[in-house]
Amino acid sequence: MTDCIFCKIVAKELPADIVYEDEQIIAFRDVKPVAPVHILVIPKRHIESLQTTDSTDDQLLGALMGVARQVAKEQNLAGYRVATNIGKEGGQVVKHLHLHVIGGRPLSDLPALG
Ligand code: AMP
Repeated sequence: MTDCIFCKIVAKELPADIVYEDEQIIAFRDVKPVAPVHILVIPKRHIESLQTTDSTDDQLLGALMGVARQVAKEQNLAGYRVATNIGKEGGQVVKHLHLHVIGGRPLSDLPALG
């Protein structure tokens, strides 16, 4: 999608601090981290949100969770949060499906994301 900033990161048209990449997924550090570790895990294919997926995307959704687990392990996170915002009311700003992986400090003060 031409006007999507995350698609531009996938296409390497915008810079990002990439921590993981394979054929279908890329993960990079959030530009405005809310904790010492704040990584976004996204599908390379443009998908608006979890709500626009269906059962044919279940392999990809599982793989996104697997990458979240892997980057958390690589970052030595003892505990962390994985979250995805869906739609405006859900706090979603960038309309390209992404998992936030957040950790590196106690998160009890972090009731909302975005
Ligand atoms: P959400 O509110 O769930 O849509 O989250 C979007 C996230 O993308 C926010 O945490 C932003 O800080 C982050 N973000 C926006 N633009 C960039 C960018 N160019 N590189 C890295 N993270 C970004």
